[in-house]
Amino acid sequence: MAKKGDRPLRTGTLLAQGGRRPEWTGHPELGGSIVNPPVWRASTTLYDSMADLKARPHDTHDKLYYGRRGTPTVWALADALTALEPGAQGTLLYASGVQAITAGLTALLGPGDHLLMVDSTYQPSRAFCDGYLKRTGVETTYYDPLIGADIAGLIRPNTKLIFLESPGSHSFEVQDIPAIVKVAKEKGIVTFLDNTWATPLFFPALAAGVDVTMMACTKYVVGHSDVMMGSLTTHEGLWQTLRRSTYEFGHSVSPDDCYLALRGLRTMGARLRQHQESGLAVAHWLADQPWVSKILHPAFPDCPGHEYWKRDFKGASGLFSFGLKGASEARREAFIDALTLFGLGYSWGGFESVVVPSDVAGIRTATKWGENDPFVRLHIGLEDPADLIADLEAAAKAAL
Ligand SMILES: *Cc1c(COP(=O)(O)O)cnc(C)c1O
Repeated sequence: MAKKGDRPLRTGTLLAQGGRRPEWTGHPELGGSIVNPPVWRASTTLYDSMADLKARPHDTHDKLYYGRRGTPTVWALADALTALEPGAQGTLLYASGVQAITAGLTALLGPGDHLLMVDSTYQPSRAFCDGYLKRTGVETTYYDPLIGADIAGLIRPNTKLIFLESPGSHSFEVQDIPAIVKVAKEKGIVTFLDNTWATPLFFPALAAGVDVTMMACTKYVVGHSDVMMGSLTTHEGLWQTLRRSTYEFGHSVSPDDCYLALRGLRTMGARLRQHQESGLAVAHWLADQPWVSKILHPAFPDCPGHEYWKRDFKGASGLFSFGLKGASEARREAFIDALTLFGLGYSWGGFESVVVPSDVAGIRTATKWGENDPFVRLHIGLEDPADLIADLEAAAKAAL
């Protein structure tokens, strides 16, 4: 971390300075340094001598050993992400967000263990619980995202981990994370949060007592819809466990991708502020339209768990959904097809706006989805919100 003296640095400064260690951006013989840690591509890394080879530790996170364990480009991104989470010991990087989730769960769970998984979780996380974890003897119980301290009633002697995702990325319930963390700490259970929606800028998870925080960096960290990447950040207590398992599995990320992710990270604060502002502008406009039945946006009072968002979060990102009042499936499809500024596709968090249909009902097992109208999920990008609103208005006129 580029720390100037002992003054603690604020988030915006950490985004600009993180990972720019002098030894990664220059060399004493070059007479200067460059701003960005360059792309160090490597499989083989070379040793000076046999003595050097024998002395070099194999479990290092910031000394060259072999390409799979990373190069300065990889460490710079990990370092910059760690700096954003007060209380963090380190960050491990993965080839996608889903890989970060599965790497974390396989490191922390084994045969005979019990997992509490939030019912609003990202669908591939659920698939991993119902597939691989089940096959290898880990039992999953899904819980109501709004359960709060009542989660104590679901804990068994073999419960090892509580998985949180707040808000859910389709249904947007905000969880009472402090209440769940308190119960988990009393019982010695690990808490694991998918923090992709808020990022540490809007919810610093480790400071809130969460043990492992995960991001699909694919979304806001990368920010430009061109790289897949995932991260796990944790405190000293679990760092060795996660790192050992990650090394055992041979997880590895590309330095080129890390370079792009670090470039994205530099502007994440400015982008998130704009995603928030434009997202709220579009959501407030939608709330006034007669063809909209409901807005699911954590900053809106009727979003389930809104009070926790208000109490615990520092902001809202640009992803939310809304219901089309009384619309048929055919009308929803016509509405989505009529949009011209929103790309139709999965993923979100890039600079551009995207839309997908949002269908939650068939996925839930612990709770019942109460909405009957078809929902549409929007990611509000960095376009001018007035143009996005005009596009939504034209699509509604044409299709609804
Ligand atoms: C996209 C996403 C992931 C998975 O990330 P990938 O990089 O696409 O694998 C995990 N959690 C949430 C909430 C997501 O939106």
